[in-house]
Amino acid sequence: MIFRPSRPALLFLAALGAPCVLLIGLTLRLLAQERELAEKRHADDRRRLVTDIRQDLISRVTRLRMDLLEGHAASASPIAFVARIEGDTLAFPWDARSAVADEAPGFVDAIRSGERGEFIQRAYADAVASYTAAVRAASTPVQRAIATLHLARVLEKDGRTDRAHSAYITLSRTPADVVDDQKVPLALYAARSLIDSQQLIASDATAAAAVLGTVLQRGSALNPSAIYMSRDVAAALVQRATDASPRATAMALRHQADTLADYAEQMLAVQSAFPAILARARARSAKDDVVWVPFGQSDATWLVGIGGREPVVTGFRLRTLVDSIPTTKRHGSVVVASSDGEPLGDALPGLAVRFNPADTLDQEPLQRGVLVGMLLLVVGVTLAGGYLFWRDTRREMRLAAMRAQFVSSVSHELRTPLTAIRMFAETLLLGRAARKDTRDDYLQTIVSESERLTRLLDNVLDFAKIEAGRKTYHLRPCSPADVVRSAASTMGDLLARNGFQLEIAMDEEVPLVLADRDALEQALLNLLSNAMKYSGRGRKIQLAVHSGNAQVAIDVADDGIGIPHAEQSRIFEKFYRVNDPEHASIPGTGLGLTLVAHVIAAHHGDIRVQSEAGRGTTFSIMLPAASADDAVAVETGALA
Ligand code: ADP
Repeated sequence: MIFRPSRPALLFLAALGAPCVLLIGLTLRLLAQERELAEKRHADDRRRLVTDIRQDLISRVTRLRMDLLEGHAASASPIAFVARIEGDTLAFPWDARSAVADEAPGFVDAIRSGERGEFIQRAYADAVASYTAAVRAASTPVQRAIATLHLARVLEKDGRTDRAHSAYITLSRTPADVVDDQKVPLALYAARSLIDSQQLIASDATAAAAVLGTVLQRGSALNPSAIYMSRDVAAALVQRATDASPRATAMALRHQADTLADYAEQMLAVQSAFPAILARARARSAKDDVVWVPFGQSDATWLVGIGGREPVVTGFRLRTLVDSIPTTKRHGSVVVASSDGEPLGDALPGLAVRFNPADTLDQEPLQRGVLVGMLLLVVGVTLAGGYLFWRDTRREMRLAAMRAQFVSSVSHELRTPLTAIRMFAETLLLGRAARKDTRDDYLQTIVSESERLTRLLDNVLDFAKIEAGRKTYHLRPCSPADVVRSAASTMGDLLARNGFQLEIAMDEEVPLVLADRDALEQALLNLLSNAMKYSGRGRKIQLAVHSGNAQVAIDVADDGIGIPHAEQSRIFEKFYRVNDPEHASIPGTGLGLTLVAHVIAAHHGDIRVQSEAGRGTTFSIMLPAASADDAVAVETGALA
């Protein structure tokens, strides 16, 4: 039966589909809401993170600024600077004019006469005498150092290199805060000359390095000229130091000097851009608050703090500040940039937090997976349940249709033999058949038609028993050859009269089988009757019994119309009849093979069909050979 969508089917589909669609819709909505929520959560997290970073940064720079103003952190924070605001300009400590030292008259005169001797008269010996007098007349370390420097220089010009050298050594020992009017430590000049001397001896290089070390230690307290000079001296030292160890020291010093030079440049840049920075800060500043303005590019950005009560500006290197903030685990890398990203607010204008783009899709995939999984499960179970229900319903419907067909076929099957019996009986009764052989023929027909009726009724009754679960089999050892012979003789006459040729082939020794003789014979009769019914033009039927592998096989073969391949698997179903005009034109109930299959299964056997449309069919029954034990069991009634 072919299924066509009917009203109930459509209703059923709607009943199944509507909740599924609803469920899917609800889940999608839920997912969308989840996503929205997650995004909101994410944005909140970011905002919180930005606030944290802002507070952290501000508290850090505020603390550093306080320390710097109170004077204790200057050396701990070499990258910081502090400067005063004077009007609209920025004044670094080095910009303060140095107080003019009271110059002792003897010292000044000695220096002047020395210079006259050295530069105008080129009387170096006189100059040496004058400068030596100046050294003696010096009343401050600065004066002494200046005089020593002059003395050393003129000694060199005079060719008295040894004395010049020892004068430089003396000068190199002057402390780093003894500076000239350019605020350059005077010891640096000595270091420079020691390095430049023609044969650089190891002790001179060490002395020069020591000078550089102490000078550079003053860090941001040095003024740019001192820093630039230190850088030059360090570079010269690197060039002239050939041995590994002094060279390494020289390189470290040069690095230190370079860094300081960078800072100095930055500080000068801050100084020249200061009016603009100040304007920017003033636009934001609220009374006493300090505004932190970023200055400089990317890595070299400084945070310049302006405002507050004191007219003081402090600067810190942003990179170092950011590096000291612990990065929050959830958001991975956080970068403080001056352009894009989440702004850090008014107190830190121009600063922003840039988030790692990989963090933006921070969904909760697990929850979503669970939701989708559950949805799939529910929809899957519903659809599977619906499918199973639908399949069962279809099967039931098909069975109901088959039952209806069965009733009509049984009635038809009953009517045919009954009509024949009645017709021949009436003919005999009226004495119309004069000849004996005609009468015999009629009587024979009556007998065989009644046999056919009996077979049909037996089938129906057996089927009813099977359906009700009341069919029992009494298995006993019996000879399959006997059963086959008995079935052949029952059908023999009918077959012969219809022109069939029945061939029987049997192995000589066939083992016994454990069987319900009557049931097995009925199964064979059904197969033989089918072979006859579906014979078409064929008139040959073969019965064969053979054994092997502890099995007995009984074959019933015909050369009739055959069974199409597609139908072969279904012919054992109850009421099933082959869906083909040639088969349908032959009356039948669709019960015969169902019964055969049932009987064989009850005998622990197997039935197979081999057939080709138009070529004939062979049914093979396989039964297990009975063993001696089976026979004993039967004796004691165990198998009955
Ligand atoms: P029916 O009463 O219709 O013969 P069966 O259960 O005996 O019912 O057989 C089922 C179907 O199998 C038949 O309708 C027929 O089409 C097919 N069939 C059975 N035996 C043969 C055969 N020997 N040759 C061809 N078709 C057969």
